[in-house]
Amino acid sequence: MNLPLSIDYTGKVVVVTGAGGLICGAMARAFAQCGAKVAALDLNEDAVKALANELKAEGYICEGYKANVLDPEALEAVRAAVNADLGPCDILVNGAGGNNPRATTDNEYHHEAKEGGKSFFDLVPDGVDFVFKLNFQGTILPTQAFAKDMVETKSGCILNISSMNSYTPLTKIPAYSAAKAAISNFTQWLATHFAGTGIRCNAIAPGFLVSAQNKALLYNEDGTPTARSAKILNGTPTHRFVDADELIGATLFLCDDRSASAITGVVLPVDAGFAAYSGV
Ligand code: NAD
Repeated sequence: MNLPLSIDYTGKVVVVTGAGGLICGAMARAFAQCGAKVAALDLNEDAVKALANELKAEGYICEGYKANVLDPEALEAVRAAVNADLGPCDILVNGAGGNNPRATTDNEYHHEAKEGGKSFFDLVPDGVDFVFKLNFQGTILPTQAFAKDMVETKSGCILNISSMNSYTPLTKIPAYSAAKAAISNFTQWLATHFAGTGIRCNAIAPGFLVSAQNKALLYNEDGTPTARSAKILNGTPTHRFVDADELIGATLFLCDDRSASAITGVVLPVDAGFAAYSGV
């Protein structure tokens, strides 16, 4: 990857959850390219082992760990392993997260709901809990595990991943929107709570990315945008999607104590203008 910023992270231990995925895999790679010792954590062990092997083969430092961000005991065990392999955690990126169809309505508006479709009234507690837990508890629990290292060293940085839907909820995905709003709120809470410890806490709010998972929702087979995709592009003043690599500059900047020493408690949109645009 061609890095957008040249920041020296040599010797820093960077723990990235969700590193088996699109966005956090790119972040893990960027930190490794900047000299950091990267711990790549994911439920998908194969994905983080493959990433670690790839980065090691290129001469970088990275270890992959299977970790469930919802299991406090497992996280403590992974923290012990990371401490033994790489050292105490300096930077934590809370990237594991996502939505689930069980917490998604079929229609944008109830008055347009079709017979047999999943309406708001069909959303089940399990589905809502799953999404809320994965994103919100999945940010709190790794922080409880890894920020202990930072409290001891009286320094460090936590970067959470919020979303566009944290500012104004997106149709169809009430639990995911609420969970990301909770992450933005928690980012401010944690920045305040840790204010006297030397630890900073910020978040980025990525705009709309095209990924393997959502490509079929955004583009028709003939390559034209779907109705939802057209809405996104029309709601973005620059009329474009965001690339995962475009999150790297903000990530490296916010996690660097020299560049961002006075920045804590912010949620930075990286959204090609989506959050700023009223649509008129
Ligand atoms: P992704 O699905 O590619 O990656 C998410 C990773 O999290 C996966 O590798 C998955 O295995 C892992 N994961 C899921 N549950 C886990 C658990 N319990 N414990 C540990 N790991 C677990 O998704 P992505 O698009 O790279 O998203 C990364 C983050 O960015 C998420 O928090 C997502 O909500 C957020 N985000 C994504 C977009 C987007 O457009 N893709 C936009 C805004 C925010």
